[in-house]
Amino acid sequence: MSQDKTPPPPLPDNAPTPRPNFIREMVADDVASGRFGRSVCTRFPPSPTASLHIGHSKSLVLNFGLARDFGGRINLRFDDTNPFTEDIKYVNAIKDDIRWLGFEWDAEFYASDYFERLYEIALHLIRGGKAYVDSQDEEAIRAGRGTVTTPGTNSPDRDRSVEENLALLARMKAGEFPDGAHVLRARIDMAHPNMIMRDPLLLRIRHAPHYRRGNAWCLYPLYDFAHGLSDAIEGITHSLCTLEFKDNRDIYEWLVREAGFETPPEQTEFARLQIDYTVLSKRKLLRLVTEGHVAGWDDPRMPTIAGLRRRGVTPEAIKQFADDVGVARSDARTELAKFEHAVRDDLNMRVPRVLCVVKPLKLVVTNYPEELVEELEAPYYPHDVPKEGTRLLPFCREIWIDRDDFMEDPPKKFFRLAPGREVRLRYGYLVTATDVIKDASGEVVELHCTYDPATKGGNTPDGRKVQGTIHWVSARHAIACEVRLYDRLFSIPDPDAVDEGKDFLSALNPDSQVVVPNAYVERSTAGDAPGSAYQFERTGYFKHDVDASATAGKPVYNRTVSLRDSWEKAKGKG
Ligand code: ATP
Ligand code: MG
Repeated sequence: MSQDKTPPPPLPDNAPTPRPNFIREMVADDVASGRFGRSVCTRFPPSPTASLHIGHSKSLVLNFGLARDFGGRINLRFDDTNPFTEDIKYVNAIKDDIRWLGFEWDAEFYASDYFERLYEIALHLIRGGKAYVDSQDEEAIRAGRGTVTTPGTNSPDRDRSVEENLALLARMKAGEFPDGAHVLRARIDMAHPNMIMRDPLLLRIRHAPHYRRGNAWCLYPLYDFAHGLSDAIEGITHSLCTLEFKDNRDIYEWLVREAGFETPPEQTEFARLQIDYTVLSKRKLLRLVTEGHVAGWDDPRMPTIAGLRRRGVTPEAIKQFADDVGVARSDARTELAKFEHAVRDDLNMRVPRVLCVVKPLKLVVTNYPEELVEELEAPYYPHDVPKEGTRLLPFCREIWIDRDDFMEDPPKKFFRLAPGREVRLRYGYLVTATDVIKDASGEVVELHCTYDPATKGGNTPDGRKVQGTIHWVSARHAIACEVRLYDRLFSIPDPDAVDEGKDFLSALNPDSQVVVPNAYVERSTAGDAPGSAYQFERTGYFKHDVDASATAGKPVYNRTVSLRDSWEKAKGKG
C-alpha cells in the first residue's frame, strides 16, 4: 500500500532536548579522555526481518542523538546474516521509516558484505588455536554444553590440528558439505560460568539463497560472531544494545580482542522499551501480520512506525516520547497513557479543529426558514494555539448531531440535549428540543427543535445560562465519510505475560478497531489530501487515511487518539 512519506514540517519549539542519561555521561567522559582516539561513531543495526516498531525509535533517538551531539557519525548497518528470514522489502521499509522519523545516516553497511572479512578472522582464530571445526550434530553440541549448574564437556573434535581445521573450513566454504555437517566454534572454555562462552558457534553451513548474496555463499556467521566484529570493522566506538544481550558482552569482547582490534568498540546495554497493551517483539508482530490478525505492518493498530504514521502520529511525537521515556539500566514497562499524552501534546499544537458527527441523528430546526443557508465563521484553532485561520460553517434547517448528545430521559448531570432542554450548537445558535420522532420499534430517528435567532454565534444577549455545547454539521452540506475508531490492540497491560498454556493472541482486544461507515464531516474538509490531520472537536484526533479504495471514494479518517483517556475514566466510574 502506498503511504505518505513526507514528514510534516517540524515545529521550531518541538524539537526534543535530550535528557541526561548514563550512556550520554559515559560518551561525554570518553570524548573528554580521548579514549578511542577517534570521533564518536554509533550504529543502528536492524536485522531486515520485520518492520521497525516504536521500540526501535528509542534506539534510533539514542544513537542518532549521540552521533549528532558529540560531533560523531552514525552507520545504518543491516545485520543480515540469516538467509531464511531476511527480505529486501524490510531493508527498504526500514530505510523509509528512519527517514520519515527525520534521521539521516552517514553510511550504510551490510553485515553480509563482511562474510569474507569474517572468514579471514575465522582463519586467524584457527591459526591461533582459538577456533575449531566441530563435526558433531546439533543435538550432541547442545548436550555437550552442560547446564547453568553443570559444566559442559569437550567436543571430541576440540583438539583437531590447525591444518585439519583449515582444510575443513575451506571445504565448508567451497560448499562441499550439506547443512549441519560441520560448524566452526570458538575454543574458549566448556566450563565457563557464562554458558555463551562455552565454545560458541561462529559459522554454520546454510545452503539457502540470501537476498543479497544469492547462492554464492554458504558459510553463515552466527549473530555473536557477526555483530561485534561488524562494529569493530566499522570503527564504532559505542555499541549500544538492549539488556538481553548483557551475557553476550563476554563473547563480544573476546572476539574483538582475539581478532586484534586495538581500540575496539564497547558494548553497553540499556532497557528496551515496552509499552502496556501492546507487544514489541518482532516475532510476535510478524505473527500478527502473517496470521491476519491485523491488516498489515501499517495497520493503524500496530506499534510499528508504519502503523503509527498511518494512524496519525507524527515523527516529532514519537521522538519526544522516546526522549521522555529516557534511557535506563533496568527494564520497566511504560504506560500507554504516557505515549498518548505525547501524541495529544504534539497534535494539539499542530492540527486544525473541525466538526465531525460520528453517530448521526437528524435534528430539524422547525422555525428556521426552509431555503435559508447562513455561513457561520469558525476559527480553526483555539486561542492558546499560535496558528490562525477560519472557515465558514453552513447552517440550515437540517443538521446532524451525535446520537450520544441526546437523551430522552436524562439523568440530572446530563447537560446536553433532552426534551425541553436548551443547548448551544458550537459556533451556531442555541436550540431547544421540542419533539422526538420514533420509528415503529421505538427508536429515535429524528429530533425537532426550535432555535433562538438572537443567539447567533452562541451568544446569549440576555445572559441566560446554557450548560452544554454540542457539535453538529449541516445535513445538506456535510461530507459522508468513514471513521475508524482505534483502541488498544490487547486488552491486558502485559500481553507477553498471558497465563501459562495460553497464546499471547488470546489477549487481543476484539474491539481494537470499530469501523463507523456513516459519519459526517464538515464541508471544509472537501477534497483534503490523504494524510490531512484534524481534531474532530469533542471526539479526538484523526488522520485522513490513504485507503479510500474499500469505501468507493468516501474519505476514511483514522482515530489517532481520543481527547482524553477514556479507559481511565471508565475505570474511575466502575
Ligand atoms: P532480532 O532478534 O530479530 O534481531 P531485535 O529486537 O534485536 O530483534 P533488531 O531489528 O535487530 O531487533 O534491532 C535493531 C536495534 O534496535 C537493536 O540495537 C536493538 O537492540 C534495538 N531495539 C529493538 N527493540 C527495541 C526496544 N523495544 N527498545 C529499544 N531498543 C530496541
Ligand atoms: Mg537484533
